[in-house]
Amino acid sequence: MTPEVVLLDFGGTLDADGVHWSPRFHMAYRAEGGTLDLAAFDSFFKLSDQALARLPGIAALGFRAAIETQARLLGEVLPDRAQVNPAAVARRLHGDALAVVERNRPVLERLARRYRLGVVSNFTGNLEPCLEELGLARLFAAVSDSAVVGWSKPDPRIFLGALATLSARPERAWMVGDNFEADIRGAAALGMRTCWLAPPERPLPPGAGEQAPVPTARIARFVDVERVLA
Ligand SMILES: [Mg+2]
Repeated sequence: MTPEVVLLDFGGTLDADGVHWSPRFHMAYRAEGGTLDLAAFDSFFKLSDQALARLPGIAALGFRAAIETQARLLGEVLPDRAQVNPAAVARRLHGDALAVVERNRPVLERLARRYRLGVVSNFTGNLEPCLEELGLARLFAAVSDSAVVGWSKPDPRIFLGALATLSARPERAWMVGDNFEADIRGAAALGMRTCWLAPPERPLPPGAGEQAPVPTARIARFVDVERVLA
């Protein structure tokens, strides 16, 4: 059956080629003089993630403000905070993400002419304002933010909710994402086709592809998604 719907993850998929938020923040932090390695940094990043999700007013924060806020929250917990400027970390991260979004924009515009598109994201309640700020909101007929809908990937209910909004069955849909457990296993379990966005060196998790073929396709750069869907 010809796919008619494409569901997409947001973070790490539309704004970076399969690189998660924590290593992206870590790269920006190191470039601005931070000294922790990724493993040590990641525990503080998780604290900042939790603080961000609890922040009053988070639902209204756009993309840039969310990055600036998380960099500030991170700056409050890092042991080497005295030597790293949170605003500079945020500026670097935001600039990199924006460049990837700009590169991806024409791809998304072409996809939107051929498919009904939806975003399905484990997010913090402010996915809509983020997509608005990036000028992407008009391309998506369904936006499912886990903090808004109450289910997180890989729970089937978040995928099924987006598919219901788009009046599509799972067999007629693709899911494109960078998180194997959340995006790929979750969608594949429903019978969706799956496209995993991951750097070439990232190994397929154990157990993948046993009942076959999961993922349906794999790409290293989001711009290669059109070739896979065609
Ligand atoms: Mg992601």
